[in-house]
Amino acid sequence: MSLVVVGTMAFDAIETPFGKSDKIVGGAATYIAWSASNFTRPVKQLSVVGGDFPKEELSILEARGVSMEGVQIKENEKSFFWSGRYHLDMNTRDTLDTQLNVLANFTPVVPDSYQDCEFLMLGNLVPAIQLSVINQIKNRPKLVVLDTMNFWMESALSDLEEVISKIDVLLVNDSEARQLSGQYSLVAAAKTILEMGPKYVIIKKGEHGALLFNGDQVFFAPALPLEMVFDPTGAGDTFAGGFIGHLARTKDISFENMKAAIIVGSAMASFCVEKFGTNRLRELTKVDIDNRIQQFKDLTKFEIELSS
Ligand code: AMP
Repeated sequence: MSLVVVGTMAFDAIETPFGKSDKIVGGAATYIAWSASNFTRPVKQLSVVGGDFPKEELSILEARGVSMEGVQIKENEKSFFWSGRYHLDMNTRDTLDTQLNVLANFTPVVPDSYQDCEFLMLGNLVPAIQLSVINQIKNRPKLVVLDTMNFWMESALSDLEEVISKIDVLLVNDSEARQLSGQYSLVAAAKTILEMGPKYVIIKKGEHGALLFNGDQVFFAPALPLEMVFDPTGAGDTFAGGFIGHLARTKDISFENMKAAIIVGSAMASFCVEKFGTNRLRELTKVDIDNRIQQFKDLTKFEIELSS
């Protein structure tokens, strides 16, 4: 039984008010794999890269228990490229460029060895590709989690709606939740999204934490107040990797355990933003992660006596 991760493996160029990167390794599935492999192995990766993608990156991930059997390498093509510029608040950004390259004609092929998939993480990617993966997996996974973004809401809404109708958990940020639902209130937005199919919706609010909705139940997880946010790129994917990694490790998909999974996701995301790209994720130890989760526990723990 295993975790299968679908998404981009890519190059990014990032500008923040504090610095600028050259073309660096990024992509939704790259961040998810770096994050989830701290909790569960193997992570079975499904993606496509061009001949320009560093082979070394694939082998470093492989050494961490990330299977690359489902990653197609198109030697004569270029990898997906994204470039973005963050505003001063570091919570909002503009996409400067999206070059699909190798993604434009990508037909995913789910290897036989991935058919034991119990947890399916559909990272940010063309909705038709996400759909094709769902349809190729013969036995419905125990949990299907989807991450997406405004780009696909604008360019492939009907495919995206079809994917959303087939999943269990949708991860979006606050502006995407508003865009998808047409509602300003996040509570109303969650209600509308839950009517589209998923049983759970998680709305990420950057430095203001994340909300989990399921029926009438709501849970709120804070983000760690950090003095310095260096680069928020990949924080959402790193959150997703920690969330599903924890669920895959514990094999418990109850609402109570999802609360813990959101804290794990938030802790992982808090590391991601501390350095450019995946750099901070590359150096983490189990002790670092445990200490950070403890900080989250301390942050929200309080005693109060009710006078009644
Ligand atoms: P996040 O900051 O968590 O939203 O994710 C940023 C990552 O998503 C970057 O590493 C990009 O390579 C990747 N990305 C950006 N735009 C897209 C897109 N339209 N589809 C798939 N991945 C994307």
